[in-house]
Amino acid sequence: MDFKDTPEEAIFRTECAQWLATHATPKSAGQHQTFDSLAERISASRAWQATKAANGFGAITWPKALGGRGGSPIQEVIFREEEAKYNVPASVFNVSLGMVIPSLLVHGSDEVRARYVAPALQGKELWCQLLSEPNAGSDLGMIRTQAKRCEDGRDGWIISGQKVWTSFAQFAEFGMVLTRTDPDQAKFAGMTSFFVDMQTPGIEIRPIRQANGQEEFNEVFFNDVYVPDEQRVGDIGNGWRVTMTALMNERLSIGGVLPADLWQKLARNIQSQHRAVNDQSILNRLNEIYIHAHGLWLMQCRGLTALGQGKEPGPELSVAKIIAAKTLSDYCELMMDLEGSKGLLSAAEHGSHWQLIEDLWYGAAGIRIAGGTDEIVKNNVGERVLGLPPEPRLDKGKTFRELVSN
Ligand SMILES: Cc1cc2nc3c(=O)[nH]c(=O)nc-3n(C[C@H](O)[C@H](O)[C@H](O)COP(=O)(O)OP(=O)(O)OC[C@H]3O[C@@H](n4cnc5c(N)ncnc54)[C@H](O)[C@@H]3O)c2cc1C
Repeated sequence: MDFKDTPEEAIFRTECAQWLATHATPKSAGQHQTFDSLAERISASRAWQATKAANGFGAITWPKALGGRGGSPIQEVIFREEEAKYNVPASVFNVSLGMVIPSLLVHGSDEVRARYVAPALQGKELWCQLLSEPNAGSDLGMIRTQAKRCEDGRDGWIISGQKVWTSFAQFAEFGMVLTRTDPDQAKFAGMTSFFVDMQTPGIEIRPIRQANGQEEFNEVFFNDVYVPDEQRVGDIGNGWRVTMTALMNERLSIGGVLPADLWQKLARNIQSQHRAVNDQSILNRLNEIYIHAHGLWLMQCRGLTALGQGKEPGPELSVAKIIAAKTLSDYCELMMDLEGSKGLLSAAEHGSHWQLIEDLWYGAAGIRIAGGTDEIVKNNVGERVLGLPPEPRLDKGKTFRELVSN
């Protein structure tokens, strides 16, 4: 395992650091950028994406012909590590540029790529991912939103159904939607993907208010929405392949799950309190957080080494997400306990220094679910890493219609 950059990686890191130093402000200790509203965060994120795109840092791994840098996955991670040292808006483009557009690059037509890729890269057009439904999340093979061929002579489809948990749908210009086109096929075979303009008549977006008061998620209703066939992505019945291309691109998000100075901050906080320094149970909790944070860093190094050698990071890396979410929760809980009864206050009551803890506390719960819940990740690790017997599959040899009628 390599802990240090190769000479080429070190040169690239310096280039990133120099560019960032002239285009962004470094974070001071404990600083955390906040916005008055989600709309404000989205527009700051669009502006930052535009700056990066104009300077060759908008999409490190994309081909140069598409406005990317033609760089390697490890260069992408290096840029993210350097960017995390600066006071820039937390990106809202992870789904748009990290999942949806890469899938469009593989499965979209030349005309579609020519029209949509550049504005997405420049942050002018935001894309959302319309996969999850009220009865289909961990198992997307059970989606029910249907697309039926128009019967009035138009060369298109009518989409009807409901999606849920769609991040930033209320701000997105476009979305990629997974639909059921043939219920008489096996559940993964009868699905087809389309892209839609989110302003299309019949699309209704209802933001969901979260526990932290924000509205990042939405319910999205498709009330007989007409979509021309030219907005189909991939072949009819190939929606699962299109979706898998998007989901596979999530693998790069292995970097930067935990703030780099997590346990150091905690240790400083404990040192400043006489009571805490002498409390063995608090020191034990600090030890545990340190061990988890250090273990995660080692796993990340292993993943980066694989990427640097042009290999795929192993499936064991997926367990990192479970540990990261738990470590973040443990960290926030200990920080709250150290504050005594004040730890129960919100950032609005306790002061802006408390905003990071509040955001991490709520965010950790989302990490446990997004991109595969803890249980699903554990199932994958059990089967693919530990070689345990697979889960019983009751859907084998059945069509989707048979599955939902049972
Ligand atoms: C921050 C965040 C952003 C998201 N953004 C989007 C987005 O932009 N677009 C989108 O389409 N979706 C999005 N989602 C939704 C997300 O993909 C789903 O929430 C996730 O896949 C889980 O699905 P579910 O909520 O339907 O839970 P379910 O699949 O119903 O699971 C409920 C519970 O049952 C457990 N469970 C399910 N199956 C098994 C099994 N086989 N074995 C053991 N336990 C099981 C799960 O672990 C969970 O505890 C987002 C979610 C979060 C948290």
